[in-house]
Order: sequence, then C-alpha cells, then structure tokens
Amino acid sequence: MAIINSVFKTAQYNLMQTAERIGLEENLLRKLAVPKEKIEQRLTPLLSNGKLANIEIYIVRHNDTLGPSKGGIRMTSSVSMEEVVGLSMEMTWKTSLMGVPFGGGKTGIRFAPETVNSTDKEVIIRSVARSAKRHFGPELYIPAPDMGTNETDMGHIRDCISYSEGTSITRGCFVTGKPIILGGIAGRRQATGRGVVYTTVAACKKLGLNIQGLKVAIQGFGNVGSEAAIEFHNQGAKIIAVSDASGMLFNDKGLDIGRLCQHAKSNRGLISSFSGAESASREEFFGVLCDCLVPAAAGSQITADNVSKIKAKIISEGANAPTTPEADEVLNDNGIFVIPDILCNGGGVFVSYLEYIQETQHEQMTESQVKTRLYEKMTSCFDDVYNYAHDKKATMRKASMDLAVGRVVAGIKARGLLP
Ligand code: GLU
Repeated sequence: MAIINSVFKTAQYNLMQTAERIGLEENLLRKLAVPKEKIEQRLTPLLSNGKLANIEIYIVRHNDTLGPSKGGIRMTSSVSMEEVVGLSMEMTWKTSLMGVPFGGGKTGIRFAPETVNSTDKEVIIRSVARSAKRHFGPELYIPAPDMGTNETDMGHIRDCISYSEGTSITRGCFVTGKPIILGGIAGRRQATGRGVVYTTVAACKKLGLNIQGLKVAIQGFGNVGSEAAIEFHNQGAKIIAVSDASGMLFNDKGLDIGRLCQHAKSNRGLISSFSGAESASREEFFGVLCDCLVPAAAGSQITADNVSKIKAKIISEGANAPTTPEADEVLNDNGIFVIPDILCNGGGVFVSYLEYIQETQHEQMTESQVKTRLYEKMTSCFDDVYNYAHDKKATMRKASMDLAVGRVVAGIKARGLLP
C-alpha cells in the first residue's frame, strides 16, 4: 500500500475500498469521489496591530443528495483545500450514517487562532462571515464549530448575517453551535464528547468490559477531548492520560478531571503544568497501558510508525480521520476494536440537526431532552453498524462506510441520474 498520511488521502482510500466492496458503479463513484463545489477566497482584515492579515478560506460542499451540506469551520495555520475536501467527504458519510437529512461540507480558515486576541479573532470571523455569506444558508450549507472555532465565533457569524439583512434573526438556521441565548441548543457543546462516550459504553457491553474503572487515555483536550473526559468520568471510567500540544499528563489512579478542566481554562486551554499528575513526553502517549484510547486532536495521528505501541482494547475516534489506512490494518490484525470517526464523533452533527429543527420551529429543547435523544441516536447507530459488521464479518469502519455510502447512493438513485 502506498503511504497514505493525510485526511484527504485517507478519505479517498476509504471511499475506493467501499466502492469495491459494495460494487459501486463507476459513474456513481465518480460523482462521490469529487466535491460538488469548491470555493477559495482571500481576505485581508485589518487587525489591532495596524497590519492587514492575509487569510485564505476554503468552502467545500462535497455532496447534498440527502439535504443541505453540513460541517464545521476549521481554523488552523495549516488547513489546506485538500484537507477541507477530505473532511467535507467525511461529513457526507457522517450525516448519512447518523440518519440526519444533510449532506457534507466543510470550511477552512488558514490562520492560527492562538496567535490573536479575542477582538482580532472576532474581526477575522466577521470578515469570513461577510465574505462567505452567499455560500451559507439553511437550504445550502450550514457551518458549525470545528477545530479552532467555538460557539462565540458561531454567535458572531449569526450576528453578522442577521445584521447584513437588517433583521434581528436570520431566516432559518444559517449556523449551528451558537450560544444558547442566540438560538443555540443546550448540550451542543458537550454533544460530540458525550457521543464518543456513549458509543464506547455500547462497545464495552459487546466486548464484556466494564465502563466502571475503564482506563482511558485521551489525545487532545479541546472541546471533544475535554467533554469526553467529563462524561467518561461521570460514567465511572478513569482518565489515566491526557496529551495536547503542550505535553502529556499521566496518573494511573485517574486524573482529577474537574480540576484539569479548570486548570486548562486558566492556562489558554493547555494542560501543561497541571499538578496531580506525572508529566511525560507526548511521544509516550500511544504506548500508555490503557483499555480505551481516544484520539481527539488532529487527523493522521495513528500511523504505521506508532500503531504497534498501542495496547488499548478499544479506539474511540473522537477526531476526524485520526487513523491512516496502514495503521488501521494493524489495529484490526491486533484485534483492537475501532469505533470509527463517522460513528464515534457523529453526536456533534446530530445535535446540530436538533438545533436546526429547533430554530426552524421556534421551539426550545431542554438539555435533558437533547441528552436523551443523543443517547438513543448514538446507541441505535452503534447497533446498526455492529450488526452489519457482524453479518458481513467486516470491521466497524468498513460496516460504517458501507452503510453510509449505500444510503447516499440510494438517495442519488431516488433523485434520478439526469441533471
Ligand atoms: N465539526 C463537527 C464535525 O466534524 C460538527 C459539524 C456540524 O455540527 O455541522 O462533525
């Protein structure tokens, strides 16, 4: 196998393999292998240092067969058009698998958010919203938070769009993951992390493992990693290791997650210099003796180089495309149970869907209603994938992809192939 070390190549590879397994016709494969729309823009907002920032943005709508494209806004110094194409393709499969009436899309803002203060970030986000507005819309593409963006940013996008219309609210849902006071939904921020835990609980039941005392190691302590840590802790699991850009923490007795969250909040989101744990180097992370390993950071982290160090029984993919195909084969050979990204982290987009319908119907759901719906959805999707994998003697990743791609193909056929 040629070396596949990017989110884009992983997405392409997984689609090609799926096409072969499900016997996808060539012309349909061609439709799915490339995005429907790719937009590239350059922005030069004026920042508080008196200089113009030079920012590229990429907006990709991979597919809209099952509904308007859905997917978050990734803001990092390294995001590229290629990465956004790969991530938008992942969103098409994720929304399909989760059974929500959306297609796949993604936005990239090539800029390091950690290098600016909150005022400058707001300037950049508003500049993006103004410039990208004509590509956003409840029937077209609905963005949400992703790596490097959060609910505050989504609030600014919502405000920028309604302001430009001269109205208080937008006509329908233009963005999800907003602050609750602006029409966001209770439990959206926690949704992806909670969903990761709910699918892990479902996996434990199948594998005869007990969530009580389950030893968990989490890579990344951003929104997904920290919320998963809180929920794992609530369910009785023990978080024994956490790593992020600033280092790694280890405590075999379990880290005090409440205190760690407080510490990260006052330490620019970073875990370094936390007391109550041994510090270790980030390179040691994959070798930690744990039951469950949760990659919840960037893509392509579990690779042919580090996969043989992994001793976990379960990998719960909180991040998008964290495992390269070569590493995936090794995990499978080693009997490690992988809950693939499009299933494991699909709770975020599912609750985005609840936010979308809440806004359309001018209703408000409570956090406990959202939690119940999320739990039911994650558990039933897990069961669908598990049963399919069992019947076909396939891995959970292959089963997820077969089901997700199969539904999009059924949608294309139902629409008809004419233009
Ligand atoms: N960024 C999240 C993801 O990758 C959420 C997308 C959404 O809610 O639209 O799934």
